[in-house]
Amino acid sequence: MSINSKYQAVIGLEVHAQLSTKTKIFCGCSNKFGSAPNSNVCPVCLGMPGVLPVLNKEVVEYAIRLGLAVNCSITTKSIFARKNYFYPDLPKGYQISQYEEPICRNGFVDIELADGTKRRIGITRIHMEEDAGKSIHDAGSETLVDVNRCGTPLLEIVSEPEMHSAEEAGKYLFAIWQTVKYLGICDGNLEEGSLRCDANVSVRMKGETKLGTKTELKNMNSFRNVERAIEYEIARQIEVIEEGGTIIQQTLLWNAEKNIAAPMRSKEEAHDYRYFPDPDLVPVLVNDEWINAAAQNLPELPAKRKVRFITEYLLPEYDAEILTQERTTADFFETTLTGLTKKNPETYKAASNWVMNDVLRVMNEGKTIHPEHLSSLINAIQSGTISGKIAKEVFEEMSATHESPEIIIKKKGLVQISDTGAIEKEIESILAKFPNEIARFKSGEAKLMGFFVGETMKVMKGKGNPKIINEILAKKLKN
Ligand code: ADP
Ligand code: MG
Ligand code: ZN
Repeated sequence: MSINSKYQAVIGLEVHAQLSTKTKIFCGCSNKFGSAPNSNVCPVCLGMPGVLPVLNKEVVEYAIRLGLAVNCSITTKSIFARKNYFYPDLPKGYQISQYEEPICRNGFVDIELADGTKRRIGITRIHMEEDAGKSIHDAGSETLVDVNRCGTPLLEIVSEPEMHSAEEAGKYLFAIWQTVKYLGICDGNLEEGSLRCDANVSVRMKGETKLGTKTELKNMNSFRNVERAIEYEIARQIEVIEEGGTIIQQTLLWNAEKNIAAPMRSKEEAHDYRYFPDPDLVPVLVNDEWINAAAQNLPELPAKRKVRFITEYLLPEYDAEILTQERTTADFFETTLTGLTKKNPETYKAASNWVMNDVLRVMNEGKTIHPEHLSSLINAIQSGTISGKIAKEVFEEMSATHESPEIIIKKKGLVQISDTGAIEKEIESILAKFPNEIARFKSGEAKLMGFFVGETMKVMKGKGNPKIINEILAKKLKN
């Protein structure tokens, strides 16, 4: 038995999603990312004495949407509380959050692991809170503070401690990322910190039901780093225990360059937040009407959309998975389908191939493609106007110039030649050049057919109709 199989890892994630509302959570300041430092501020988000916060209704709406999407029950009367601590980027000296009565409770998300195992991961709670400002430590010997982020609305999504591997944690985080993006409530950018994940990790002997002492990992700004940090920490804890030591409850910062997690200075650790209900804010009341309206307005979520893609368009599961990973991709695909002249499983699959391979690639390069243009391109292949090979060329031009395929085909003279007489003439002159190859073909080297097709295509500059070329060649080489 290996050391690792004696232990079970336990992981719980706390995910913070920065909401893409126009304004901040308790004031009218702009919530835009990337403004000049300290420009989006007012007395309320700076916490000046005597000001009063007023809750942004859009934040509650977003919280309800997310809660419903991850199967939570929505609290009809939730409370804001003050979480008190001192930090240079928190001018108020406290953060407004929710403690005893969060807006959402008892949800779950379903995940599937690479080996096909399905797991349901519980969500303990989702609460609304404001973000703190940002300290910038890499400006030489000084620390700079940017308070633009003070008052940025956040939803904190807290999972149950019931994931058991880095892979499960990664899949869970992906599901949350996918959901907030589908809902349009957060841009999901891990690198820029609009979706942040703290991972709580402990280990225990297999079969043990009590939880072990946990550590909390911070500072992982990509899916990969979240998984690497968790793997590192599980291995470290097992090693400590194997050597007879005990795990100290502490916060560790992931260092992506060194591939290690190092403890934060302990002074920043000691927290006694002395939460109490915020006397400046009334309870948040949400009635059934509001909840029902939000439920009605939820978009089709990825899991459901994937199943529909399989049943409605008869796509392989693999395609459906890729196409529904992001809402923009799924929307692009379905808009493409509406523009097809022939709608059948064959053209749906063709559209799927184009989107998965070509559209996603050029979009990753930062280019744009119009779905209507992709429909026209597929229509042009279907009608025999262009060959599939030429279509690739048209597609590249489409992504560079944003012109329609019709214009590109005309401009570059790419229309497929299907004139049997013209093709036959080209084939005859080619066959005249290769008597040896003909003899070899006739004596059984069937693969030379490809050679003849290739030569014909070459002289026809790729524009010959491959079906007709194949037919004529087959006929001529038979006798
Ligand atoms: P804290 O008070 O330290 O913030 P919480 O009980 O609020 O701890 O839990 C925070 C997160 O840590 C949750 O996602 C929870 O699932 C997870 N968690 C709690 N205890 C453990 C543990 N022993 N091992 C792993 N994860 C844990
Ligand atoms: Mg906590
Ligand atoms: Zn403000």
